[in-house]
Amino acid sequence: MASISLTLTDEQRALKAGVVEICRRYPGEYWRELDAKREYPEKFVTELTQAGYLAALIPQEYGGAGLGIVEGGLILETINASGGNAGACHAQMYIMGTLLRHGSEAQKRTYLPKIATGELRLQAFGVTEPNSGSDTTKLQTTAVRRGDRYVVNGQKIFISRVLQSDLMLLLARTTPADQVKRKTDGLSVFLIDIRNLKGLEVRPLRMMMNHSTNALFFDNMEIPAASLIGEESKGFAYILDGMNAERILVASDSLGDARWFIEKAVAYSNQRVIFGRPIGANQGVQFAIAKAHVAIEAAQLMRDKAAALFDAGQPCGGEANMAKYLGAEAAWEAGNACIDCHGGYGYAEEYDVERKFRECRLYKTAPINNNLILAYVGEHVLGMPRSY
Ligand SMILES: Cc1cc2nc3c(=O)[nH]c(=O)nc-3n(C[C@H](O)[C@H](O)[C@H](O)COP(=O)(O)OP(=O)(O)OC[C@H]3O[C@@H](n4cnc5c(N)ncnc54)[C@H](O)[C@@H]3O)c2cc1C
Repeated sequence: MASISLTLTDEQRALKAGVVEICRRYPGEYWRELDAKREYPEKFVTELTQAGYLAALIPQEYGGAGLGIVEGGLILETINASGGNAGACHAQMYIMGTLLRHGSEAQKRTYLPKIATGELRLQAFGVTEPNSGSDTTKLQTTAVRRGDRYVVNGQKIFISRVLQSDLMLLLARTTPADQVKRKTDGLSVFLIDIRNLKGLEVRPLRMMMNHSTNALFFDNMEIPAASLIGEESKGFAYILDGMNAERILVASDSLGDARWFIEKAVAYSNQRVIFGRPIGANQGVQFAIAKAHVAIEAAQLMRDKAAALFDAGQPCGGEANMAKYLGAEAAWEAGNACIDCHGGYGYAEEYDVERKFRECRLYKTAPINNNLILAYVGEHVLGMPRSY
């Protein structure tokens, strides 16, 4: 039976303390400078990897720590609560799940131990396309089998960390849409080595926040047939299978952001004196912060419930989706309360509030927008008609 623990175990406390210790070496200045230059936090991610934190979810037999999603979430939440941005490295935790659950034993033995040590980095996940967006089954990138290779043509948009990864998980169409029974058939997943890969063009996009995001173009890009994960045509189901982990981990990113905002907001509004008293003594300031705190506490309970169900191997689609929704909304509410109480200083780069404000906004839109989360809840939790 799954159960939520309301306190951290000694091991979880030690795990959190280890992450906090690393984060202390990467203060606001570090993230601010990278943000201005839109550069990848290479040093931070390397240290986190070498300390084993990004291999938390990889089973011990493949060189990882064999921990659960509760611990994975705790790591990401702690990074964001410390002022960093786990978005730079969170994807490896959920992408590798597709390889773990659906890859062959040979693929797992080849890649997972190297991902665990950091010899290979798997932070890129190529799904979104310009003409299909959230409607993944309509994606147009094709992978056509030719002997012992697949030839890939098409394009992707908003694919993050491609230039910082050695490997990418790619979703492409292997059977034309008009030849499949169900619209979810005909898509396949590939784990490809993208180092010096011919036919792959990567065009970096300058986004609202520092996220190493790109447009990708595939022009007769040849990949080994052995890079197929699982069975051809079943890729969409494999990707869906990893969604609960993704939702829970992204909810954890948001919770960390939210905690950071509240800590800053409380500290600032307690010490800033205007009209002869701390601004936090005004209900207009205090209640916005308190309200966001209430939202965070509720979001954390839902994240913890989803994580406990996930680790117990029980269905958790509703809870994982609701956790992602509540986390993203709570972080946004906390971000607004934080920027409001800081007045003009909230907009000054040196306070980091505006950077975190931009960073937390992403999770209302990606990896799935909150409208589609509500559509999931309406259809799958409440039994209402499909709305899209
Ligand atoms: C910084 C960043 C990094 C990203 N990294 C990656 C990555 O690494 N890999 C990857 O594959 N993708 C990535 N994405 C893409 C992201 O997952 C998509 O942007 C997201 O899924 C939405 O797709 P879209 O942008 O095409 O929006 P659309 O699908 O065009 O939707 C636009 C808006 O319309 C609304 N909407 C659409 N359909 C419905 C509906 N049926 N009901 C109600 N509302 C609806 C939603 O509010 C939605 O936000 C990234 C995006 C960003 C911004």
